[in-house]
Amino acid sequence: MCLFCKIVNKEIPSNIVLEDENFLAFHDINPKAPVHILAIPKIHVDSFNEVSPETMAGMTSFIQQLAKETKLDKNGYRVITNIGENGGQEVKHLHFHVLGGAKLKWDHF
Ligand code: IMP
Repeated sequence: MCLFCKIVNKEIPSNIVLEDENFLAFHDINPKAPVHILAIPKIHVDSFNEVSPETMAGMTSFIQQLAKETKLDKNGYRVITNIGENGGQEVKHLHFHVLGGAKLKWDHF
């Protein structure tokens, strides 16, 4: 079972921010911004390449709710998903980095 499936199953502890039937949001263990939350579907999906439109629709609403509840929506935030090797994806379970709490820089490489 993959790392994030174990987090979903509560076999590995995480600092949960928001949870519903289908999605989970928890603090990134190695934050790259003052606020760095990972939002994931509870079902295993390898990456954005494989995600269904239905899961993405739910994911969108979940991230919007997350932004509202954490007040990230007030000043803005960034949503990133890394895909595959060149994208820098280390954990092979679809996740969206939700970053905020400061004016973020943009650095591709
Ligand atoms: P990726 O590089 O887009 O795959 O991002 C994986 C993210 O998962 C990284 O930002 C890691 O810091 C984070 N991460 C890895 N293990 C854990 C964990 O056990 N709890 C929370 N975040 C984790």
